[in-house]
This record gives sequence, structure tokens and C-alpha cells, in this order.
Amino acid sequence: IAKEKGRNNYEFHDSDVNKVMSRNLYIENELRKAIERKQFSLYYQPIFHIDSGELFGMEALLRWNHPSLGSVSPTEFIPIAEDTGQIVSIGTWVTEQACKQTKVWHEMGFPTTVLSINVSPLQFEHRNFVHTIKTIIEQTGLDPPFLKLEITESIMKNVTTSTNVLNELREYGVKTAIDDFGTGYSSLYILKKMPIDTIKIDKSFIDDLEEHTSESMVKAIIEMGLNLNLTIVAEGVEKYCQLETLKKLNCTLGQGYYFQKPVSGKGFEQLLIRTKIRED
Ligand code: C2E
Ligand code: MG
Ligand code: MG
Ligand code: MG
Repeated sequence: IAKEKGRNNYEFHDSDVNKVMSRNLYIENELRKAIERKQFSLYYQPIFHIDSGELFGMEALLRWNHPSLGSVSPTEFIPIAEDTGQIVSIGTWVTEQACKQTKVWHEMGFPTTVLSINVSPLQFEHRNFVHTIKTIIEQTGLDPPFLKLEITESIMKNVTTSTNVLNELREYGVKTAIDDFGTGYSSLYILKKMPIDTIKIDKSFIDDLEEHTSESMVKAIIEMGLNLNLTIVAEGVEKYCQLETLKKLNCTLGQGYYFQKPVSGKGFEQLLIRTKIRED
């Protein structure tokens, strides 16, 4: 009886695992066809200067609309695309689309915005990475300083190679940012060693900004960053009181639902039009 019970428990557990595995496997297979079937699109979330409220730029965020799965979150499909290596071609698609779109907006006479895109460690570590970036910049005609590549602290696994890649990008004029700053194990080491331009303070620190310890940490991060001539972005700003504190702490840029949620390319163009009307 005991054996039978054990077996049943095991089976119950097994079928749960199977469900997740088969969804992941399905996603993996469907991802292979997503580019050619035009299921991907890019959303853009504006980034603002905290002191003046002026528009600085936008982060491109990948969206996947699948005919039967519906909209699948990047937090679900990006890790799968990373496991299978598909992220390399997806990342190239994202870079091409976003650079092309940004160049069009610049040529339409909208305020010149800086485009941020997310780069997975696997893309960054790929031997063709810098070449791919340069090729896309040349094909689209975007000015290199208007592209900012967001990478995470995980690039610290390979300090020498990462430093070389970052130096090559810097020489070419492309900007780099550390995304989700403060959540890894090597935040201070990154500040000290890596040739980067921007840090994006992770949303979790901004969430807790009302707590005294969190405010002193954000204050310390901003002070260190500014001393090192880095641009500091606060991610996930949702409330006015957070913005007030960030202003007091001299944080450079802010991004979050308080300002605006990510919107489609058309939606972002509306924002650019409104911004231009205000400026003229
Ligand atoms: P991330 O790069 O840290 O992007 C910020 C995420 O926070 C986005 O989620 C954005 O919609 C969300 N967000 C922004 N402001 C707020 C806020 O005020 N409150 C809350 N609750 N959330 C906010 P999203 O678009 O779901 O993307 C999740 C993650 O997926 C990204 O985190 C990034 O790591 C990854 N990702 C998205 N697009 C790409 C891509 O094209 N390539 C790669 N490699 N990763 C991507
Ligand atoms: Mg990001
Ligand atoms: Mg981020
Ligand atoms: Mg984040």
C-alpha cells in the first residue's frame, strides 16, 4: 500500500512537471517560427530626465503575440530562448527593428531620443556580437551614441572578454548600461572595473524607497555613480513620492509606470508628437 501511495504522489508531481515541460517545449518550437510569422513586435517605454521632466529616450521591449498562446511575457519566453540559443537571432531582429524605427523618428524631426535595448549574456558573449551591432548601425544610419545596450551583471563571469567587448563598443561610440543594477553579486566590482556609461538601479530598490535603509542605499549608489561620471536611471518609478526622493538624490533619469507604461511604436510616436508640440 505504501508503495502504491508513494507512486501516486510521484505521478501527481510528475504530471505537473510534464505540464511545464510540454509548455516550455511548445514555446521553444513556436519561437523558431515567430520571426518569419511576424509574431514579434516592439513596445517602447519612455525615459525622462528627472530634473527637467524632458524626454531622454526609450527602452525597446519585446512582445510576442502567439495565435493560440496569446501574449506571452518576455519573462517567460526570453529564458527559453536563452537556453536554446534562439536569443541570438531574436536579439538581432530586435536590434534591427529598433534601430530602424529610431532612425525614422530622428529623420521625422522628433526630439533626438536615445534607444536602449536589452542584450542577453549569450548575445553579448557571441564572438560576432560587436560586428553585428556595427553592421546594423551602418545599415540603418543611426548615430552610434543614440544606441545604448543594456546588459546585466552576469557578464562579470568573464571579466577579460567582457571588458574587451565594452571597450570596443565604447571606441565605436555605442553606449552601455548595467540593467537591474544592485541585484547581482558584483555590483561594486562592476563600478570599479567596467567601462560602462549608465547604471539602471533595479526596481526592487525603488519600490522600497520609503524605507530608510533603501533610501540610503539608493543615495549611496547615486553618489558613487555620479562620482564615476555615470548616468543613473531609476527603473520602475511608480509613485510621485519616489520621484521626489530621486530628485532630491540627484538621480539623472527615471523610467516607470508613474511616467508611462510601455506602448506600441504608434503609441510612442504619439508621445513624440506631443513632446514636439510642447517644444515648438
Ligand atoms: P527589464 O529590461 O528590466 O525591463 C523593465 C521591465 O519592467 C519591463 O517588463 C517593463 O515593462 C517593466 N516596467 C517598467 N516600468 C515599470 C513599473 O513602473 N512597474 C512595473 N511593475 N514594471 C515596470 P517587460 O517588458 O515584461 O520585460 C521584462 C524583462 O524581459 C526585461 O526586464 C528584460 O530583462 C527582458 N526583455 C524584454 N525585452 C527584451 C529583449 O528584446 N531582449 C532581451 N534579451 N530581453 C528582453
Ligand atoms: Mg532593460
Ligand atoms: Mg531593467
Ligand atoms: Mg528590471
